[in-house]
Amino acid sequence: MRIPVYDPTWAFGARERELLLDAFDSGHISGSSGKYIAQFEERFAAYCGVRYGVAVSSGSTALHLAMVVAGIERGDEVLVSALTNIATANAVVQCGGVVVPIDSEPETWNMDRLLVKRALTKRTKAVVAVHIYGHPVVDFDALADYCDGDDSLFLIEDAAEAHGATYWGGKVGSLGGMACFSFYANKVITTGEGGMVVTGREDFADGLRSLRNLAFTTPRFLHHEVGFNYRMTNMQAAIGCAQLERIEDIIAAKRLLARRYTERLCDIPGLQLPTEKPWARNVYWMYCIVVDPAVFGCTRDDLTARLAAAGVETRTMFCPLNLQPALKGHMVPTSCPVAERLWREGCYLPSTPTLSNSQLDYICDIIRRAQR
Ligand SMILES: *Cc1c(COP(=O)(O)O)cnc(C)c1O
Repeated sequence: MRIPVYDPTWAFGARERELLLDAFDSGHISGSSGKYIAQFEERFAAYCGVRYGVAVSSGSTALHLAMVVAGIERGDEVLVSALTNIATANAVVQCGGVVVPIDSEPETWNMDRLLVKRALTKRTKAVVAVHIYGHPVVDFDALADYCDGDDSLFLIEDAAEAHGATYWGGKVGSLGGMACFSFYANKVITTGEGGMVVTGREDFADGLRSLRNLAFTTPRFLHHEVGFNYRMTNMQAAIGCAQLERIEDIIAAKRLLARRYTERLCDIPGLQLPTEKPWARNVYWMYCIVVDPAVFGCTRDDLTARLAAAGVETRTMFCPLNLQPALKGHMVPTSCPVAERLWREGCYLPSTPTLSNSQLDYICDIIRRAQR
């Protein structure tokens, strides 16, 4: 038996194929024309409860464009959740900004807002809050309060792992000034590669649209700004429209998988499982566990080695930004003890919702037998 950490094609079907082929047959294959781009933007933004969506080539390019539109420049400090995909920090560095990693709180693993408050300085230009592994950031309202007022301090959501997650009933993506999504293969819904920035502000949307398309103006080929080619193709957008039709079924399946894991693992001492705050809907992008070796009786590495030997693939949680060699010289040195522990002790288990009960029993029995 070999169980991969995620099979991105589990939620692909006839509809994705139908719309993809329709885009292909229409002859509109690029990101400059074709009906699916506008359709995907409108429908995804509406799904998030936000006015505007700007589709781009990836979550990474969504973040970069958001930073540019927020006006991040050389020397500006940007507070970023330490526990995240490196792309979140790269976007800051690509604008010449300085990354200030913010440690996690231990329960949902999201940025700790008290640490955000402490890290704010006169040089802080933006806060990027990552909804990690599908759970919305705790006390987002407090972050919004810190950033309230003028355009000198922006609050940006990195919702690349949290499509459809809710915070007090509001969708992530609608909570800050701009929000960035990824549609990479293993994300909640996918277009293969792709991303989107959603925002309620027309001026941001205009800026994003222009910058993703080389900042074309009239007359054509006269440019007043240095833009990017970050366009999504019409074919990717077609897949996205099909995925969006079934996003609630996908999320329901991910939530059910989490429940099935938790039922099997909740009585094992020394294992921390994903949580869901009463005010939240967690979309469980990946099902993460954290192994306390003193209580569980063996380390995360011993556990994942046993799982690997039995054909069960796992992946560690993210390496926190403060430990990233690539960011040396581009960040304020900090220690992030919680995120560092999650990097040492956390991993995610196979998270394809179509896993059978016998596969789950197989995985969870190996975990149970690895203790003490
Ligand atoms: C996946 C991810 C990204 C990057 O998205 P890509 O589409 O892979 O470029 C950014 N931030 C977070 C939190 C992610 O999980």
